[in-house]
Amino acid sequence: MKTVAKKIKIKGLVQGVGFRPFIYRLATGHGLAGTVENNNTGVEIFVESSSTAIGNFIKDIERKLPEAASISKFVVDESSPLGLKSFTIAKSRSLSDEITEVSPDIAVCTNCLHDMKTQPRRLAYPFTNCTNCGPRFTIIRDLPYDRDKTTMSVFEMCPDCKKEYTGILDRRFHAQPVACAVCGPHYSLLLKDGRTVNDFSGLLNTTAQLLQDGVIVAVKGLGGYHLTCDPFNNKTVDELRLLKGREGKPFALMFKDAQTAGDYLFMNTAEEQLLTSWRRPIVLLKIKKPFAPSVSTGLDTIGAMLPYMPFHHQLFEKLDLPAIVLTSGNISDEPIIIDNSEAIKKLHPLTAATLTYNREIHNRTDDSVAFVASDKVRLIRRSRSYAPSPIQLQLNAEGIFAAGAELVNCFAIGKNDQAILSQHIGDLQNLETLEFYTESVERFRRLFRFDPQLAVADKHPDYLSTRFASEMGIPLLFVQHHHAHIASCMAEYGLDEKLIGICFDGTGLGDDGNIWGGEFLVCDLNESRRFSHFENIRQPGGDAVTRHPWRMMLAYLHHYFGNEVRKRFPFVFEGIPDEAMEAVLFLLNSGVNSPFTSSAGRLFDAVSALLGICRRSGYHAEAPMQLEAVADSRTEAAYAFESGKTVSFGKTFEEMLHDLQAGTSKATISGKFHNTVVQAVVETAKKIRGQTGLQKVVLSGGSFQNRILLERSELKLKSAGFTVYSQSGIPSNDGGIALGQLAVAAKKRELGLPD
Ligand code: ZN
Ligand code: ZN
Ligand code: FE
Repeated sequence: MKTVAKKIKIKGLVQGVGFRPFIYRLATGHGLAGTVENNNTGVEIFVESSSTAIGNFIKDIERKLPEAASISKFVVDESSPLGLKSFTIAKSRSLSDEITEVSPDIAVCTNCLHDMKTQPRRLAYPFTNCTNCGPRFTIIRDLPYDRDKTTMSVFEMCPDCKKEYTGILDRRFHAQPVACAVCGPHYSLLLKDGRTVNDFSGLLNTTAQLLQDGVIVAVKGLGGYHLTCDPFNNKTVDELRLLKGREGKPFALMFKDAQTAGDYLFMNTAEEQLLTSWRRPIVLLKIKKPFAPSVSTGLDTIGAMLPYMPFHHQLFEKLDLPAIVLTSGNISDEPIIIDNSEAIKKLHPLTAATLTYNREIHNRTDDSVAFVASDKVRLIRRSRSYAPSPIQLQLNAEGIFAAGAELVNCFAIGKNDQAILSQHIGDLQNLETLEFYTESVERFRRLFRFDPQLAVADKHPDYLSTRFASEMGIPLLFVQHHHAHIASCMAEYGLDEKLIGICFDGTGLGDDGNIWGGEFLVCDLNESRRFSHFENIRQPGGDAVTRHPWRMMLAYLHHYFGNEVRKRFPFVFEGIPDEAMEAVLFLLNSGVNSPFTSSAGRLFDAVSALLGICRRSGYHAEAPMQLEAVADSRTEAAYAFESGKTVSFGKTFEEMLHDLQAGTSKATISGKFHNTVVQAVVETAKKIRGQTGLQKVVLSGGSFQNRILLERSELKLKSAGFTVYSQSGIPSNDGGIALGQLAVAAKKRELGLPD
C-alpha cells in the first residue's frame, strides 16, 4: 500500500461546533495519521494513509458533518507524507486563531435528547449538552474558550463528566458546558405564595398546570428570561400585553414540534427548514388556524419557533397545549432580563410564578427573527444562535469599530478581514438599552481582544451611537445612513464596485439635512451619489408622526391637493377630530417642526391610513405591516406615478382616492399600490442603467422586509435584465447598518483617505 498525504483546508462555520473532535473521530475511524488545527481562516487538516482511506475520509466529512457546522469552501491539496504514526488535535497557535472560535448557541441535539431518556445520570436532566449542541456565546466570559472562562466555572465536573470531557472519542470531548444531574446546574420554580419547588418533575408539572390554568409564568431561557402563557386564552394574552406595556405588536409562539406548527401555520420547504434548523429562530409564517385574537392583532402572520432548550421539550411533554406564547421577559422596550435577582424583582411580582435556574447568562441574546422570501432566509433580528458568527469581508477591517444606528441597534467590530456583529441590542433611546450597548462594546473589546483604531458612525449627530463613537477618542468617520444600508448588502455578497443601490426605509439623515428613506443611489463602498428619490413631503410634528399615520396621509394629500383636501375628500377624514386636523394643517402650512422627508416608510404609513387600515400605530412599522397583510397579491394592476429627478406619487394618490370612492376593496388598492412602488423601482433602475450602464442592483433598507415589495422588485428587476442582490443573513433594517459602516470605513482606509 502506497502512503500518500493530503492537506485539506476548510472554511465555513467549523469552529466551536465540535468540528475538530469530529474530524479526529473520523480520521482515527479510517485509520489515518495526521493533524487537525484551527486557524483564523478556518480548519486545516493534514492526513496520510492510502489514497482509498483518505478518499473515504473526505467523503465522510460532508456526509457526517455535525449539524451546526457548515462548509463554504473545501480545498484539497497534495502533500508529502511525514511518517506520522497517529492522529492528533493540534492546539490553536495564536490568540487570533482562538478568536474566531466563539460559537453561537446551538439547540439541543437529538443525541442529547436521547441521552435524557436513557443515561442514568442524565435522565430528564435539562442541562444535557455535548460538542454538537448547547449554550456557547451566552455563557462565555473570556477566551480561550475553556470551562473556567464560562459561567459553568462554578460547577465542578463529577468524575463521570470529567471522563467524557477528556475522552477524545467521546461526544462530550471538550464540551465546555458538559454537565449531569450529579454535578450541573438545576432549575427551581418560585411560586406566588413564597414556596420554591426544586424537584424537577414536580416543577415541570406545576408549570404546565399553571399555563393550562391561564396564568403568566416567567421562564429563564438561554439568552434571557421569557414570559409565557396559553395562546388560546385571550384574557391571559391581554393581561400579558398589559404587563409588558405592549400594545399591538404580535407575540411569538413556540410550538411543540414542526408537525404541530404545520397544523396551525402555512409553510413551504424553505420555511420548514429554517424553523427546524439548529439555530431555531422565530420564523414569520402565515396563519392557517387561529389563536386568541390578541396574539397576532390583525396580522396574517405570526412568529413561530420550536423548542431549543431541553427544558422546552420536556415542558411540551407535560403540557396539554400545542403551543405557548414565548415573548422576551422585559417591560416595554427595556433589554430582556438575564439576571435572576432582577427577574425576581421585576417579573416575579407580575407573574404567577418564576421558573429559574442557577447557571448565569453572561451575554444577553434575544431570540433571532427571520422570514423567507424568494426561497431565501431573511434575518430581521440577528441574535441568539447567529451572533457572534463572523462575516467574511473582502477587505481588511482590523481595528474598526462601527457604532450602528439608533433603533434596532447592533454594532460591529473588525478583526482581520472579518466583521463580528454584536447581538441585537435594541433601541438606544432607552436608557437601559444604552447601558447594554456600552457594556457589550466593552465585552466585545475584551472577548475578541479588540483594540479600536478607527470609529465609524451614522451622520445623524443625535444618535446615541454616534455620540458614543465620537467620545472614543479615536479618528471618526461618518457614513450616510442609506449608503450604509447598501454597503451592508454589498459586504454580505463581497461586492466592491459601482452599482445601483435602492434603499427604502423609515428614516435616516440625508446629505442635504432632510430625512431620507426612498433612495436611488449610484454608489460603491467609498462614495454614494443620490440619483433620484421619492418626492419630499413634510413630516408634520417630526418623529411623532410615526405613531399617527393619518398625519402622513394628511401631509401627502395636502401636498398634492392643498388646503382644499378636507372639502374635496371628506370621506377619508371621518373620525378625525377637527382640532387635530387644524393643528396638523397649521404645521404643514407653516412648516413649523415639519421637516421634509422622502421616506418610503412614511409613504406606506400615509397609504395605510388612507385606506383606513391603520391610523394610529401601536408599534414600529405597524401601518406598513397591516397594509401588506391586506394586500391582494393576485392583483397585477398598478397606479400611475411620475419619475424623473424625483419619484412623485401625486397621480397614485389621485387614482387611489378614485378607487376608494368607487368602492374598490382595500385588498385590491393595497395590491395595486405595492405594484406601483415596484414599478417605480424598476423604471428608475432602468433610467440609471441608461445613463450609467450599471446593471447590478442592491436592495436594502427596512422597507424590504415587506415580502411583496421584496419578491416583486427582485422578480421584475431580474426580468428587466438586472443582477439583483438583497440581504439574507444580515438584516435589511437598521440592525444591518453597522456592517455597512464597517465596510465603508475599511474601504476608505484602504484608499488612504482618513489619516
Ligand atoms: Zn448534544
Ligand atoms: Zn456530572
Ligand atoms: Fe434605516
